[in-house]
Amino acid sequence: MRSNLFSLLLLLSFFHAEAQKNTVVASKPKLIVGVMVDQMRWDYLYRFQSRYGQNGFNRVLREGFTAENTQISYAQTVTAAGHASVYTGSVPAINGIMGNEWYDRKLKRQVYCVEDDSVSIVGGAGKGEPMSPKNLQVTTIADELKLATNFRSKVIGVAIKDRGSILPAGHAADAAYWYEPSSGNFVSSTWYMKELSPWALAFNKRKLVDSLYGLPWALSYPFDSYVQSDVKNPAYTKTPFPRKLDANIGRNYGAIASTPWGNTLTLSFAKAAVEAEGLGADSIPDLLAISLSSPDYIGHSVGPNAVEIEDTYLKLDREMAAFFEYLDKKVGKGNYLFFLTADHAVAHVPSYMQEHRLPGKSMRVNKRAEEATLKKFKLPRVVESYGNYQYYLDRQVIDSMGLDFSAVKSFFIAELNKEEDVMLAFDNASIPAANLPTEFKEMFIKGFNHKLAGDVQVIYRSGYFNGGATGTTHGSMYPYDSHIPLLFMGWGVKPGQTQRKVYMSDIAGTLAAILKIQMPSGNIGTVIHEVVK
Ligand SMILES: [Zn+2]
Repeated sequence: MRSNLFSLLLLLSFFHAEAQKNTVVASKPKLIVGVMVDQMRWDYLYRFQSRYGQNGFNRVLREGFTAENTQISYAQTVTAAGHASVYTGSVPAINGIMGNEWYDRKLKRQVYCVEDDSVSIVGGAGKGEPMSPKNLQVTTIADELKLATNFRSKVIGVAIKDRGSILPAGHAADAAYWYEPSSGNFVSSTWYMKELSPWALAFNKRKLVDSLYGLPWALSYPFDSYVQSDVKNPAYTKTPFPRKLDANIGRNYGAIASTPWGNTLTLSFAKAAVEAEGLGADSIPDLLAISLSSPDYIGHSVGPNAVEIEDTYLKLDREMAAFFEYLDKKVGKGNYLFFLTADHAVAHVPSYMQEHRLPGKSMRVNKRAEEATLKKFKLPRVVESYGNYQYYLDRQVIDSMGLDFSAVKSFFIAELNKEEDVMLAFDNASIPAANLPTEFKEMFIKGFNHKLAGDVQVIYRSGYFNGGATGTTHGSMYPYDSHIPLLFMGWGVKPGQTQRKVYMSDIAGTLAAILKIQMPSGNIGTVIHEVVK
């Protein structure tokens, strides 16, 4: 009897061991690290590659996965919409972030993407506008991670720009921190905490920004060796190198954002968060959402062909190498899931394009179509607001004159379409009817938020926008603005690459698949299955 029982137990434990062997062990990464490089074009991965080291961008290309043809799927290629789309797997039509700001018809004013006057800033000089994720209408992948672990995961967002930190971190984050130019502090909002975390206070007290101002911006190589940039035309390099920054010490805290040291500052703060909050320290996955805002500030003033940009990326490559080394030591190589992408790319400087006989023009939006419409219908006002290349027509004024709204709108659209600089203007109420290739039409449909959008959409010709004399911008549907890098590395990532066209809105769903958690609530993306192990 006794020996029979023994045999039975032996048999049972054998089956148990076999069953365990056949079960997929659902272990998790300790930390998910997302890095958004504000304004990074996909081609920067290769354009400056010969001078990148082995352990920065090249390490991710070698050890990780790259989706070479990643496109933004909606038309408004700007910072807020990009950060929201990456982390929500969604688009402005659904997530409500249709621009950095947009016109609100009820409030009759521009609304900033993360404004929220029901909260206040913590840790600042008392002058900052209050911010929160209130206007984001869906969950982020960070929120889903919180839900999936019964809020045991820690989620922290860090960026110079408030929107670059708040929108990725989402609603349920432990904190979003951003940089306040008036005080030189990283600050947060009462949305997340009553007062600034002690470690963040200590970091601010160090005034690392002043130490960084002590370092002049010196080029990594001799000026003339930047052959991938325009070293001949002084118009595209503002002042000579090395650039002294010490005049900013103790007073101009905003200036750091337009130097490569803005990335150094942001990554230092991110590391301080890892240390103090114990991110990646236990088996419950945490999420650190970093956005590097400085490449955008630098890029706007000089454009992709300036030595400043090449040098910014060479320096960022080294920063990334050091950051990976830090994460390898702190969290352990293979224990963290890393991804890098951008919120949008950027156009070439229009005047630079013209100099090289390429399509492009620095132009200003004129009022000719508006004036023709006023005259035709004897209206005192027809355009209530303009933004994100959309016109909001004054419905009240048109109604009060007893005019047919569609007739006024159609006339205005026809007048816009007479403009040389306009590629196409169309009615936002019937985007599917617009005479555009499906690929572009889809981007406007995905960007069209029924509650927030204007009445008339205008598309200027490729390379046509107001870039000033030597500056540039982004915001269009064209590939120079919408083609972004997308790299994954580490836990759960199958190394490789795809040339298949994938979208920014596929990132969150892919992370959800790797992590085996629910995708965000407004997700429209599909899983980039090639990445998933
Ligand atoms: Zn920008």
